[in-house]
Amino acid sequence: MKALTQTELETFLHALQPAWDVRAPIRLSDGTRALGRLEEGPLALLGGRIPRKPTDVFFAQQEKVFDALPDGSFRQEEPPQKPLFVLGFTAEDLECLEFIDRFFSSGFADDIYLRKRSGAVIGGLTGKCGSAGELLRIAGGTCDLELVFDGERFIVAAYSEAGEKLEAAMTCAESGASLEDLRRASEALPQDNRRLLEQASALLIAERVPDAFWAEIGERCIACTGCNLVCPTCTCFGVQDWRYPTHIERSRMWDSCQLDAFMREASGHNPLGSEALRTRRRIHHKLAADLRRWGHLTCYLCGRCDTTCPTGIGIVAVAREMVARHAGETARLQG
Ligand code: SF4
Ligand code: SF4
Repeated sequence: MKALTQTELETFLHALQPAWDVRAPIRLSDGTRALGRLEEGPLALLGGRIPRKPTDVFFAQQEKVFDALPDGSFRQEEPPQKPLFVLGFTAEDLECLEFIDRFFSSGFADDIYLRKRSGAVIGGLTGKCGSAGELLRIAGGTCDLELVFDGERFIVAAYSEAGEKLEAAMTCAESGASLEDLRRASEALPQDNRRLLEQASALLIAERVPDAFWAEIGERCIACTGCNLVCPTCTCFGVQDWRYPTHIERSRMWDSCQLDAFMREASGHNPLGSEALRTRRRIHHKLAADLRRWGHLTCYLCGRCDTTCPTGIGIVAVAREMVARHAGETARLQG
């Protein structure tokens, strides 16, 4: 296997630029790490998951749907000129991407998403590159190419033809590196939060969580929308029309199920008319409703909502509280 130093990787990414639209973790001028183009800031490969969801490369916070022209015709964005190479997904982010790929392709295919996503090559960034150098779980196949940091170099693992082509173009001083030890350590990482979500899911499916629990949790929500905006598996959006002298632009923008207006109907009736109901819905959707619809939970424990929520009611925090308060029920459901 090839193994690149940080300098070799940086050289490689810059060399790709004439043919590729390269996005990678960079440091913005305000100090935050983000997925960006190389000219927008110095590379910041180490430091763990990036705060903003990386899936926004394909599903942007605000984007044009079409322009409506005076002659009655419609104009859409052209597909990207260069293929995208997006590096910087954690193993959990890759699972989220795999899910929204399914979401945006099932039934009604979302052409805005698919226009950007088709042909894009995805790079995982894992290994000892956590915020304090801790080991991040190795993805092992849910991307085209994975760069696993061993503390000194990025070991390259290609999983698709596109990934193999990129790997072949990499030049480095060392090859013959092995992922064996890192894989073993990755497999031994604790799975406690996964079990916690499954227990919370079982309680929700069995309808053992009373309204009083949601009233108490919902009281803590200040409707900042952070939990939804950072979540890579949140896919809700609203539509707006902007009137210009020459055309009308229809655009879409992320929505948040924690907002009062999320489901409010034109009549004024609101099926989610309280913080309790909205908070219940956010958690129930990922741990129960989506399990019925897709056959799996749609929280992949990326960690963002728990880090972001200013009042401590991210999904893991709520699941922990739910399971702790219903320990007897949890044991019965498991037994
Ligand atoms: S941890 Fe939170 S932000 Fe991440 S996938 Fe789960 S619900 Fe979404
Ligand atoms: S991040 Fe927390 S406080 Fe903000 S909307 Fe979500 S649950 Fe409410």
